[in-house]
Amino acid sequence: MHTEIYLDSNATSVVLPAALAAASDAMGQRFGNPSSTHSTGLKAKVILDEARACAVRLLGVGNGRLMFNSGATEGIQTAVLSALCALRERRDAGEAIGTLLVYGTTEHKAVPESLAHWNRLLGLNLTLHKLPVDGNGVHQLAALREVASQAAMVCTMAANNETGVISDVAGIEAVLGETASRALWMVDCVQALGKLKLDLSSTRIDYAPFSGHKLHAPKGIGMLYVRAGAPFTPLIMGGGQEAGQRSGTENMAGIAALGVVLAALERGDTFRTEAELYSFRTRLADALCAALPGVVFNNSFEHALPTTLNFAVPGLSSRELMDVFDAAGVRVSAGSACSSSKAAPSYVLDAMGLPLWRSAGAIRMSFGPLVDDATIAAACVRIERCGAALRASCLIPSERSAGTYDGLLQLGVEGACSWLVLDAASHRCVVIDPLPDHVARIEAYVRCQNYQVQAVVCTQPNAGRTEMVEALGRHFNRAADADEYGWPLNAVAMPLENGVAASVIKLGAQVLASVRCDAAGEPRAYLLGTPDAACLPAAAVRFAFSARPLQQALSGITTARTLLCPTRDEHNQFCASMGTAPSATLAADLQLDGAALATFLQTHPNARLVDVREQYEFAATVAPSPAGKVALSVPLSRLAEHASTWLHDDAAPLVFFCRSGNRSMKAAQCLRRLGHPQAYSLNGGLALAT
Ligand code: PLP
Repeated sequence: MHTEIYLDSNATSVVLPAALAAASDAMGQRFGNPSSTHSTGLKAKVILDEARACAVRLLGVGNGRLMFNSGATEGIQTAVLSALCALRERRDAGEAIGTLLVYGTTEHKAVPESLAHWNRLLGLNLTLHKLPVDGNGVHQLAALREVASQAAMVCTMAANNETGVISDVAGIEAVLGETASRALWMVDCVQALGKLKLDLSSTRIDYAPFSGHKLHAPKGIGMLYVRAGAPFTPLIMGGGQEAGQRSGTENMAGIAALGVVLAALERGDTFRTEAELYSFRTRLADALCAALPGVVFNNSFEHALPTTLNFAVPGLSSRELMDVFDAAGVRVSAGSACSSSKAAPSYVLDAMGLPLWRSAGAIRMSFGPLVDDATIAAACVRIERCGAALRASCLIPSERSAGTYDGLLQLGVEGACSWLVLDAASHRCVVIDPLPDHVARIEAYVRCQNYQVQAVVCTQPNAGRTEMVEALGRHFNRAADADEYGWPLNAVAMPLENGVAASVIKLGAQVLASVRCDAAGEPRAYLLGTPDAACLPAAAVRFAFSARPLQQALSGITTARTLLCPTRDEHNQFCASMGTAPSATLAADLQLDGAALATFLQTHPNARLVDVREQYEFAATVAPSPAGKVALSVPLSRLAEHASTWLHDDAAPLVFFCRSGNRSMKAAQCLRRLGHPQAYSLNGGLALAT
């Protein structure tokens, strides 16, 4: 049975069942407005009072203020607004307030963005100053000491959301004290709630924002602590709720739920102990080390909360790792949730001075204190499954030999691609136009599959191929010299259909022929097909590789059935047709949604369901196939190879699917462009279908 294993609790956490029940009660039985003085209102007010009293005890609020709000982003706004309004007043009164708004480089974006926003709106014109962290992600106290006397406000977090790194809050307090700094101090306590002991009023912290959804309460509820005597300006004015500190009728469902979570924390009977959380981290880390050779942890465990692991694997991008974990039903994130849709390196890991491959390839695995032993055990099994899937796809080194791939393989980055022509039977292959970004991947692939590379050829003269050739080592056939395109001078002569002389490299039953398109120095094309006894007939040419479409130069030696494989692919077209392209199909006409799929498969029993996710995602998948039909695995990198067959030898309707519907849409568009009448994409992908 497929179950989702949620290991992204630093982004948001599952709601505690008792909190869910309390929220439902606050919307049902006790739906009253706590400001109403009748009995219905009083029943609601009890919820509010009890939740606040619990928070006050648990966080050590003392004589300070504790208000409920919508979450930490609001708490941060209120803290920054309060501090900056007071600073402006002090400055207007002639006081020296300092010139800097100091914040840790690894703060959540809400902090620098709020500082910049209110600094501008209030016309303070103070300078935003980043406080650096060391290699472990801990604030550099020496750097703080240097600027503390100039700081008007200092913002530091208690624990980091990407790495779980715990700040030396006592050390920061000591520096502020030693330097007699008058700075107002905010500590973002979002990731610390329930994980670190807090006694706020015994510190000099002025403001501490909290967020419910990071600790098993719902989204949209948070709290802000303000030290007794610290300046305060409400962000929202109105009916005077929360003692006039935060107007607006209270989010009673959220408060009831958060109250239950806080009460559970106080009782200490619901969440795992610290020792258990440490042992869970050890088990996950051991599983990662066993499954993913070379894995490096980006957070020093000594300095971090036990609930966050942040790691990278040499040779794998965070996208690839995310995809394989997602296929295995393990939800993790790349860096932080906010940035995981972009492939940008993590600014938190950059600030720690980690090399680009570690910050751009980072994966965060985080769990909450509600996690149980069975979930960790299941996660370890799934991690091993991911490792096995990546090994079988040659993405990480393996002792065991992976199944041998055959046919075409297209590796693509940003508008350009490299091609591999593979013949599994003879273990021979040719590399066409290898891009520098693909060299390591191709080398690993060739070595893992034990292929012998017959040639590394280019479609342009003197294009860089040395790096590829060198990387291949003993897997490259050095028997013959090559011309300026990398074409071996000892290639066998074979005429093409129009009588033009060409030379070929044998790859099993097929040959790869080199064709001069124009005069010397012009781009070259390569044709792949099965020759007859005497020549390579145009009708036998399945694929033509060239840097740009060379329809004219190739007419006569190819046919409308030949697929053009470009080595520049700006529009993700994968391959093009030599024939005339059909008119474009509207994207909406290519989409099938989950509900329509079952009917479509019933009315088209011969339809093929094609999973276009990468091989390792297919192998790691635990979810059942959409509509229960067995799917064929054809990653986009193998689309050209299969397109040729689907177009000409087997005209069954095609329904492509992937995780979200993006990649399958590209596949459906490609097949339609090539003239396939019935290619569709499953809208929303596996994420919505299962
Ligand atoms: N601060 C930290 C450290 C966080 O992790 C988050 C959550 O993304 C926030 C602030 C913002 O919290 P909220 O989602 O409650 O606005």
